Amino acid sequence: MRGYDATMATSPIAVPADPAPLAALLEAARAELPGVRLLTDEVDRESYRRDETAYLDAGLPGAVALPGTTADVAGLLRLASRHGVAVVPRGAGTGLSGGAAGIEGALTIALTRMDRILEIDRANLCVVTQPGVINATLKAAAAAEGLFYAPDPASYETCSIGGNLGTNAGGLCCVKYGQTRDAVLGLEVVLADGTVIRTGGRNVKDVAGYSLTHLFVGSQGTLGIITEATLRLRPAPGPRSTLLAFFADLDAAGEAVAGMTAAGLVPVTLELLDRETIAAVEDWHHLGLDTTAEAMLMVESDAPGAGAADEITRAEAACIAAGSHAVVRAADPQEADWLRQARRLALRALERQGTVRLEDVGVPRAAVPALLRAIARIAAAHGVRCATFGHAGDGNLHPNLIFAPDDPAAAELTHRVRDEIFRAALDLGGTVTAEHGIGAARREWLPIQRGDAAVAVMRSIKAALDPLGILNPGRVL
Ligand SMILES: Cc1cc2nc3c(=O)[nH]c(=O)nc-3n(C[C@H](O)[C@H](O)[C@H](O)COP(=O)(O)OP(=O)(O)OC[C@H]3O[C@@H](n4cnc5c(N)ncnc54)[C@H](O)[C@@H]3O)c2cc1C
Repeated sequence: MRGYDATMATSPIAVPADPAPLAALLEAARAELPGVRLLTDEVDRESYRRDETAYLDAGLPGAVALPGTTADVAGLLRLASRHGVAVVPRGAGTGLSGGAAGIEGALTIALTRMDRILEIDRANLCVVTQPGVINATLKAAAAAEGLFYAPDPASYETCSIGGNLGTNAGGLCCVKYGQTRDAVLGLEVVLADGTVIRTGGRNVKDVAGYSLTHLFVGSQGTLGIITEATLRLRPAPGPRSTLLAFFADLDAAGEAVAGMTAAGLVPVTLELLDRETIAAVEDWHHLGLDTTAEAMLMVESDAPGAGAADEITRAEAACIAAGSHAVVRAADPQEADWLRQARRLALRALERQGTVRLEDVGVPRAAVPALLRAIARIAAAHGVRCATFGHAGDGNLHPNLIFAPDDPAAAELTHRVRDEIFRAALDLGGTVTAEHGIGAARREWLPIQRGDAAVAVMRSIKAALDPLGILNPGRVL
């Protein structure tokens, strides 16, 4: 059997030496897997080249397969193993690490057709779903039953549950409800050789053997393809109370975040926008935000009954104690929805200003002020325009480097600034990626952050589950 060339795994745009294995796979798939839709036209394949990490080089898939069932996925992976063809699992393609970007000549398997919610199980507070369901669709279906699906990436209207599981997505609710991993009870996964396994089910507690569920979540399609998930639902929380606090300096906003954490507040949302981001959002949405402020915090509480107003009052006190010069509460739930939506669109607002390279560093929460200072210092030292927003309550900030679209120095400057920001985050005990993933964009930093011994363990897990190295080669490891 001809395995996938291991040297290809070092480059996100590796070119397979020989197109014959893919041709053989496609011929067999047409004969054996009539339910699989295959795209081979160049125009169709082109639209699967990139995810949202547009600045990364990406390869043109040799073909794209759209399976309709778990059996289709198993059949495709059996053929990929037999013919030694690399496979890129893909959801909605909104990822920000190059994890779903094409590999030249490889097979992209897009799970978008597997888009059915199979069951909402009220008695067990869970939902069984296929991976192609859009996060917002799942939320709406749960809400229609008076239930709540918590994971809430800002891209929730476009990203898929499979992609959320693949990246262990975070978002705007993690302070209180955790990342996607915290909402997963069990998975159905197709392994590289086509074997189908189940890792859990509807049990709230289940400690039989190693936690394979948690191993697959966040593995970015390098260990298996998730074809079904059983996800935790919660009773729907009450309406949210929302606070905006404006600060004359970034440091004070960071201190307010640290103050709220130290005071034991667990708001559902604790987001930060710096001056550049506030201006970009205001320029687009005209919400009346204070564009003279250096920073804004958005705090939301969904505590039951009077608890929400109480939590927001305590958050307000922490903001004022840290130096906030203006605090405003949303007048009603609709205004709160507008504000949340505007925050979700912060990246799009910045993209109207130039080419944006978004990063995803995280630190222990008490170190948020120090990380904010470091980002501002590094950007200023290199003369790079930087807008920072993010999930400050989780210690997760997104510095966005903004360049003119034709700036010839952009690529090199991005690398230098990014490396210094990564180093600063690590020096603060943080991470080079809090929620977007290593993917293809940050691979060289994995051993620096985790150490060679930990990466060797990861490699042995990869080798055990995917001995031919066909699953998303060159991503993560
Ligand atoms: C405007 C904007 C805002 C965003 N906000 C957030 C945010 O707040 N928080 C956050 O965490 N992310 C955010 N993201 C990033 C992105 O939306 C998330 O990473 C999301 O989880 C990706 O989902 P997707 O369906 O687009 O996956 P894709 O991009 O298609 O894939 C992501 C990764 O998962 C793997 N994968 C996909 N499906 C499967 C499967 N079925 N089985 C195994 N692996 C699979 C892929 O191989 C890839 O490595 C944002 C992106 C944008 C553009």
